[in-house]
Amino acid sequence: MKRIDLINWLSETDPNKVQDLYSRAYAMKVKHVGKIVYFRGIIELSNICAKNCFYCGIRKDNDHVERFQMTDEEVLESAKLAFDSGYGSIVLQSGERSDENFVAWIEQLIGQIKKMSNSQLGLTLSLGEQTRETYRRWFKAGAHRYLLRIETSNPELYQKLHPADHSHEKRLDCLKILRQEGFQVGTGVMIGLPHQTLSDLADDILFFKNFDVDMIGMGPYISHHDTPLVGLTDKTDKANNFDLSLKMIALTRLVLEDVNIASTTALQAIDPAGREKGLLAGANIIMPNITHTKYRRFYQLYDDKPCLDENALVCKSCLETRIKNIGEEIGYGKWGDSKHFKHSIQEK
Ligand code: SAH
Ligand code: SF4
Repeated sequence: MKRIDLINWLSETDPNKVQDLYSRAYAMKVKHVGKIVYFRGIIELSNICAKNCFYCGIRKDNDHVERFQMTDEEVLESAKLAFDSGYGSIVLQSGERSDENFVAWIEQLIGQIKKMSNSQLGLTLSLGEQTRETYRRWFKAGAHRYLLRIETSNPELYQKLHPADHSHEKRLDCLKILRQEGFQVGTGVMIGLPHQTLSDLADDILFFKNFDVDMIGMGPYISHHDTPLVGLTDKTDKANNFDLSLKMIALTRLVLEDVNIASTTALQAIDPAGREKGLLAGANIIMPNITHTKYRRFYQLYDDKPCLDENALVCKSCLETRIKNIGEEIGYGKWGDSKHFKHSIQEK
């Protein structure tokens, strides 16, 4: 698909045509990855962050957030719960820190989780920009996938959304290093950011393709009341960002074909059935939140984040019903690696 076709689809308003796009993307997903949804239980380890991204509710300069860091026992308890529930893999996410205490903490946590699960639990990290040495240590400890969103493929837009010392180039470098160090690499963008155009979004999809990523995690931008960007979007943008996000999922599936695409929680923050709609538009991964409920309200990247009070087991049964209702099955006990990653390894 050419850039202009992508832009035309992103601006399409005829509901029948848009539905047709989703159906085509769904057929592409079934062809390449089947009607199986893989779960990645996400543990939000800590909201302590050294960065100041203008869109994010846990940015360093937000003094209204009580900061927390989970204990080792709590992390292991959550990981075990995921393992016992048959989730094939988990994601460790947190605010960004690169001090040695943090790096060593993660390194030993990875080891403990591997040990607890007899190396059976897949392990993805989403811990921001780090040095090659750090990525290497974490890979060696047993993590094998990494999520680092590019946020937008447009460097000028990136600069508008971050303080001057946050660099788009550095982010790109990190993605390259992660790949070189052996990780399956996931990236993604926020959809409906202030100043973002449809051409930017079309370029984002082309970026995914050119960079040859294995996994995509993207979702609507939702403002947070305590951030510098608040007020730049309004309520009507929410519905619009939701529709744009579904179109982005569908188009990404049609262009990249066999990658893993997450139907993210931010979709559910706008529409209670948002994640199912994402699956029907071509996504195949869901990331249930398995963070201890006592910490969830402190990890608010955006307003209206769902499932604040539901514990992991409630989330699991609620999700199971939702997924069965749309005729899909859950890939319990499987890592569910990106088919794309497997194909590219075989070709090497
Ligand atoms: N600190 C790590 C991981 C946590 S943030 C990192 O930045 O990579 C994970 C993702 O949350 C970010 O990449 C960003 O895309 C998303 N995010 C942050 N604020 C958001 C908002 N207001 N709306 C939607 N997504 C947001
Ligand atoms: Fe920190 Fe990540 Fe939020 Fe940026 S997006 S402020 S790095 S948690």
